[in-house]
This record gives sequence, C-alpha cells and structure tokens, in this order.
Amino acid sequence: MVNLSKSHYTSFCQCPKNLWLSVRPQVSGISPDDVKNSLEARLEKGKEVGELAKQLFPGTVDVSVKKANGNPDIGTMLANTQQCLKDGTKVIAEAAFLHDGCYCAVDLLRREGDGWAIYEVKSTTDKDDKGKQKKFDKYLPDIAFQTWVLRQCGITVTGINLVCLNRDYVRQGKLDIQQLFSIIDVCSDVQNELAKVPTLTPNAQQILVQQQEPIVDLSEHCNKPYPCVFWEYCTRHLPKPSVFDVYGSSTGKGDLTFHFDKKLEHYHAGRVSYKDLIGQPLGIVQRMQVERKTHIDRNGIRKFLDGLSYPLYFLDFETMQSAVAEFEGVKPYQQIPFQYSLHIAKRPGKYDHLEYLAESDGTDPRRGVAEQLCDDIPANVCVLAYNMPFEKNCLKDLACTFPDLSRHLMRIHDNMVDLLVPFREGYYYVPAMGGSFSIKSVLPALFPNDPKLDYRNLKDVHNGSEAMDIFPKIRTMSRREAARTRENLLRYCELDTWAMVKIWEKLIEVAR
Ligand code: SF4
Repeated sequence: MVNLSKSHYTSFCQCPKNLWLSVRPQVSGISPDDVKNSLEARLEKGKEVGELAKQLFPGTVDVSVKKANGNPDIGTMLANTQQCLKDGTKVIAEAAFLHDGCYCAVDLLRREGDGWAIYEVKSTTDKDDKGKQKKFDKYLPDIAFQTWVLRQCGITVTGINLVCLNRDYVRQGKLDIQQLFSIIDVCSDVQNELAKVPTLTPNAQQILVQQQEPIVDLSEHCNKPYPCVFWEYCTRHLPKPSVFDVYGSSTGKGDLTFHFDKKLEHYHAGRVSYKDLIGQPLGIVQRMQVERKTHIDRNGIRKFLDGLSYPLYFLDFETMQSAVAEFEGVKPYQQIPFQYSLHIAKRPGKYDHLEYLAESDGTDPRRGVAEQLCDDIPANVCVLAYNMPFEKNCLKDLACTFPDLSRHLMRIHDNMVDLLVPFREGYYYVPAMGGSFSIKSVLPALFPNDPKLDYRNLKDVHNGSEAMDIFPKIRTMSRREAARTRENLLRYCELDTWAMVKIWEKLIEVAR
C-alpha cells in the first residue's frame, strides 16, 4: 500500500484530481520527474535552506537515510527516530512517523516542556517586497497533517512553528544563522486545518487507490495555493486559444482587469472561445486580443518615441539570486547582477555594442558591474529597458551598496524609459502576441521569420532563468566548458538588447 505523505495530503487539499494524477503519470503524461522539475528551483532552495536551519539548534541529530535510488529509506528513518526519542535526543532533524498509512518526516522536532515542538522549515521569506508580514495559510495543511500524525503516534506536541528566512537580514561578515531565520508561532493559526485532518485523510487515501479519475471542474484551486502542474491536461478539451489565454492585467487608467477569477466566471457561463467573448465588457488590450485584429495607434507610438532622445542606450541585466544571503551586505533573495548588454543607437541604423560579464570565480560580481556600467553609460543619456522595474531595482541596489557610485547610478536609473509601454498601453498590437507583452512574445510576433531574432537558435542559454542557473555553476566547469558557457551567456544577453533595438526600429516604421 502506498503511504499518504504530507505532499500527497497537500495535493489532495488543493484538488483531489491533482493527487490522483500525481500518482498516475501515465494518465496525464506528466511524470513524477516533470512534477519535480516544475518545483525544482523551489526544491533546490528548500534543500539549501533546510540544511542551514539544522544549525539553528546545536546538537541536532539528523535521522534521514536515503536508499541507493535516492528515495528516503522510511523504515530506517522510523527506527532511528524511535531510538532518538528513547535516547533523550534534544532536537531531531527529519524525525519520521507513520500512523495507519499516513507518513511524515518533521524538518526539526525539538524537545520543549513536557513534549515536542514542530519546526517546519520553508525557503520563503517572512515579509513581502513591501516589507509587510506575509500570510502563511498555504503551509497550514502540511503542518496540520504532521501535527495530527505525531499526535496519533502518541507524541505530545507542545509547539508548532514555521521557520522561514528573515527578509530584513543583511549579511555582515559570517552568516549569522540565528538572524537569517525568523521563527513564527503558528499554533493558533493551524487549529482550523487540524480539525479537518481526521476527515480528509481517509478521503485522500481513497483517492490514492481508486481506479476512476475524480470529476473536478476548473476552479480557483487550479491556481491556489500553487499553479497546478496538470493545467494543460485538465484544459485539453478547450478551444485554443481560450478565455484563459486572455491578458490578465489592465493598461491602468481605470481600465478593466481580467484576472483568473474573471476568466473562471466566463468559463462557467459557457464563454470559452475568443468568439464567445466579443461584446463582453473587456479592457482595451483584451478587446484587441479577442477580436484578433492588428491595432496601431500612431499618435500613441509617436508620443512615446518623441519622449526619447539620442543617443539611446538599450540596457539589459542578468542576475543571480540566492535564498541565503551569499555576499556581504546582501539580503535573502536579493537579485545580484553579474552581466549586462548595452546597445547604443546614435541614430537608427548606427549602433555600437558593449557588454560586461563578471568573473565566474564565486566572488561578489557587483562592484565590477557597477564600475563598468558607470564607464559605459554617461549620467545624462536616455536609457531604455524592457519592463524596467527590474533594471531599476538592480540600479537602486547597486547605488545603495556603492555610495561613491551612487549619484551616477541613480542618474541612469532616473533617465530610464520602459520600451514595454507602447505594448502594455495598447498602442501597438498584433494577434501573434497572444496577449503577452514580454519581449519573448513581442519579438517573434513582430519578426516571425528572422532566425537571428529567434531565442530558440541560441545555445544552452535561452532565457533569464537559464542564465541565472548556469552562471554560478561555471566555476565548477572545465576551462573549455566554462569558456563556451560564458560565450553563450554573452550571446543571450546581446540578443535581449538587440531585440529591443529591432522593436524600437519597428515602432518608428509603423508610426510613420
Ligand atoms: S488543473 Fe485544476 S482541476 Fe485539474 S488537477 Fe489541477 S487543480 Fe485539479
């Protein structure tokens, strides 16, 4: 019999069909590896954070054991846990418990008072980007399941805590583990979820064994708490494109949004294809999308182009990000720029290209990036980025870190213009954009048959995530492989700014 694990239980809480499909890869064609890969970045960060969290409590005994195939050796872990309970161990990492086919391993279990306190480690931060305390509701079913299994196994649970990263921690010298983490008492928050576990576990166990696929229609749970990996499978019967492909955001200025809840409303009312949506109250961009017409607002585009002044500097950063503050003065998950590409247009058709890629030796790349950037971009020129908040944030962080360069970096920041604006505002739309205004959608829509502008023709690095993943790995590569990877990174970033140049040229052409 397959044990019901905490990830099974949380899958079930999101949607019974999600659990059923996750243990039957042959039905959806999505293998356990695919499911794992969709979560890979999260898991990788989770592993790194989990290892560090073990240092929170000195003397922690880790009982985890893996089989030759990499899966946990549950039998040995259960036995090791029982031994630790008998031995008087103070803190156990990966303490394993099994009750009536329900299995869990607790990240950290600490002897407190007359019993044991659960510490569930998550690689998230305690606060959002605006510094506001986050809600942790999505973790509660998982924590409730563990608490229930422990109690069924006769453990007195005296505390229930969530351990996550302290977003305000700024590394000064050696990593301070006590400061890096925030410990949040979720004992009272978890009570509602805890009351549901005795009813839900038999239902989830039934789903694990039943032959028939559960009938579950699309609903808000497809996106909550996580975007479901089986979305393609569950929407395979819908026309393509469908209401779910409509652009979600608005142009601002009081325009209508079209978020997931709105899409579901239309879906449940039987308005599924673009044709079904014509005549419905929609935002500017959404209307153009469902009507599938090319739209060019020449006045809007001219207004945007008139706001630019020569020479133009097209800038794009590549960054890496670590859950753990890796360098001096860095916070958890801070974006660390290691590369940029810069195309300079003195006029249409006359371009220079500059680029910078930091040494890949594991040292902090930021000083080199900041100094070279100040050399390459004068303080008083017009700088273009595509979706500029990202580039602006990088510049602001660099300016805070290097006060001697701050004035120059902030001038670059303040002179920045977003090339996304003509598309997001609906000045220029072609149906091939499919309602997405990312550069990866706009470029092929405007230049469908140009192999030089096709990211698929690049080697190894085709997007920002791949660049972010591969840069820190270069230091472990052979010289030859490292040189090839650095070249691939340079060509990828160059295409990002060359794409911006071509898009800008196209705007000039259509505005005539
Ligand atoms: S896509 Fe929605 S209905 Fe399908 S398994 Fe996922 S959550 Fe359930």
